[in-house]
Parts: sequence; C-alpha cells; structure tokens
Amino acid sequence: MYRKFSADKIFNGYQFLQQQVLITDAYGVIVDIVDEKETGDDVEKLNGILCPGFINAHCHLELSHMKGHIPKHTGLVDFVLKVVTERHYAEQEIFDAIENAEDEMLQNGIVAVGDICNNTLSISQKTKERLRYHNFIEASGFIPALAEERFQKSWKIFEEYLLTLNTQRSTVCPHAPYSVSPGMFSMINDLPNNNLLTIHNQETEAENEFFEKGTGDFLRLYKQMGIDISFFKQTGKTSLQSWLPHFTKGQSIILVHNVCTSAEDLLFEKLQTANCKLRTFYCLCPNANLYISNILPDINMLMQHTDNIVLGTDSLASNDALSILAEIKTLQQNFKDIDLAILLKWATSNGAKALQMDKSLGSFEKGKQPGVILIDETGLEKVTRLI
Ligand SMILES: [Zn+2]
Repeated sequence: MYRKFSADKIFNGYQFLQQQVLITDAYGVIVDIVDEKETGDDVEKLNGILCPGFINAHCHLELSHMKGHIPKHTGLVDFVLKVVTERHYAEQEIFDAIENAEDEMLQNGIVAVGDICNNTLSISQKTKERLRYHNFIEASGFIPALAEERFQKSWKIFEEYLLTLNTQRSTVCPHAPYSVSPGMFSMINDLPNNNLLTIHNQETEAENEFFEKGTGDFLRLYKQMGIDISFFKQTGKTSLQSWLPHFTKGQSIILVHNVCTSAEDLLFEKLQTANCKLRTFYCLCPNANLYISNILPDINMLMQHTDNIVLGTDSLASNDALSILAEIKTLQQNFKDIDLAILLKWATSNGAKALQMDKSLGSFEKGKQPGVILIDETGLEKVTRLI
C-alpha cells in the first residue's frame, strides 16, 4: 500500500519543489516524487511544507533534568560551573526527564540525534529505538598526569554503550579544547574505528584568550574547579588553531558552536583539513548561544567558507525546547538574508551527512526512510509528523 502526499511545497532535503507529489510505502520508505498530473487518486492534500525528518546534530539528553535550572546570560564560565556542580539529581528524575525530552524531539519532527554522553543514564531510553542516535562519549581531563585514568573512565562508558545498544554508532570524543590535555587528544586520535568526532569549539572569546595569552575568565573556571594549571603554557594561537592539529587520521569532526571563530581560523582549518584529509562540519546551536551568552556566530562569514553547516539544540540546560524548527526560526530572525531552503538543508540532508546516516535519512530519495514531516509555512511554529 502506498501513501501519496501533496502540499504547498515539498522540500526534498536540498531544494523546494512545487506541484509534485511524494509517494511512500506504508513504512515511509520513499518510492518516488512525481508530477501532480501523474498521480491518480488517493492523494493526501496538506497545507504547508513537506520535509524529511529533522536531524539534531548536537544534544545532551542526559542533561534534560536541568531545564530552567541555570539562569540565562551567565556567560560560559558560570554556565559550565553550574552544569558540573549542579547536574547531580535523583536517578529517577533524570530518567523521567530523558523520556520527556525524547518525546519532545519526536513531536518536533526530529528523527536522529548526535548525543553527547558523560554517563550511561540515557542508554535505557535509547534501547527503545524511537530515535536514531550517534552517541558521542565525551572524554575530558585537563591535567596531563591524569590523562590515562580519565580516558579509561570514558572508555568504560563507551564499552557499556557498545554492549547494550545494538549499534556501532558510538565514538569517544573530546569535550572541549580547554578541558582535554594534549595526551588525551592523542589517545583519541590514535583510536581505531573512531572516525566520527565532535568537539565544543570557540564558544566564547575567553576560550581564545586562554590559548593565545594564558589569561582571562577561564582562569576563574580552573580555580573554582580546583584544577592547578601551572603546567599550562599558552600556545599563542586561537583555540581552534591550537586543538585541530591533534587530529591527523582522516576523521570527520563536527565543530559545535563556533561563536568566536574568525576568518583566519577558517582559513587555517581549510589548510589543516586538506593536509590531514579531515572532514569538518560546523554545528550551529543559536538558541543555546543566546541562552548562555546572548551572542551568535558570524554565520554569513561561515557560509562563505563552507557548505557543511548543520543544526543542533544543545541540551535543555541551555535551551527552552529541543526543536530544530525553533533554531531555524531564530536564525531567520537574526540572519534575514539566508533562504529558508538553505536552513532546511542544514537541518536535514546536511545533518544526516554529518552523522553519517545519509544512506537512509535526510532527503526524499528512493529507498531512504527519512521520516515525513509537515511544517506550517507562515509562522514556522508547528511541525506535524506524518510518518
Ligand atoms: Zn553541548
């Protein structure tokens, strides 16, 4: 049995189509997109934009219980301190929040998530396989002498994901340039079959200042966390130019936030990725950036550099909702020149490529099963899941 959908517009993952009809089988596998005149009867006629399911390239499901806990506009250092010190709740509360957050993503038309994992608390929800996940098991530890011990801690969590979930979609990743020592970067770089990576990159100017000059607000972060950084020597380079050379083995890396990434950084990245055959994607989380620091990346500059842009919600600790459509709306309001088709491409086919799920997700192409959602065109307020 086939289903046939028509709407004001069809976004196929790359561009808008008009006067076309999307045909799927009963399970949502794409059969074809054909001209309206050739479709015969039984077409479900809808108002709005038909679109493949959204890809949320950056989330922390395990922080869902922190929704509304941290005030807005604290800046990154105070935000990180609060997450680290105040994330510990009763387990049942965390499980319930994870389930609710997943429900919310399903309702908002999200079909796949790049999820950062510091612990195993989200595993039981993920075994239900309601959404597709790539689990980025986060490694962190800035003190060089503790690199091995801290890496082993992440490795144990990684093994638990591999054993429990019926998927190979888990990798060990660095948390951020300022929380991972060179030794730990090198352990991650050396891991075999650990090709898909992500890292929080240049989320605040203080991150660049710390690497360039060894000064600034990050000193307060280490002090309050009781980390003695007397071993640290500034690199004289920005954060991105300091950490990227740690990766040399052709990995694919999703750089998240990029709020303070400059044109020189992007030029450096281009040369470095060519030399080491790396592949990079830039993930934007505008609502989280506004929540934490009330600033946004220079997206026009980023677009001149790359087409590999994807979208993420970050966690409910720094966002009011887990909605890719809400991220698109914020980008539309702040960057009026960017076409909706480009924003939707970031949210669908680009996201699927970044998470290496583009064989089945991200676009209306024959044989894929990307999910079918309907977006109201006027206010970009509402998403309806059709399949
Ligand atoms: Zn994050």
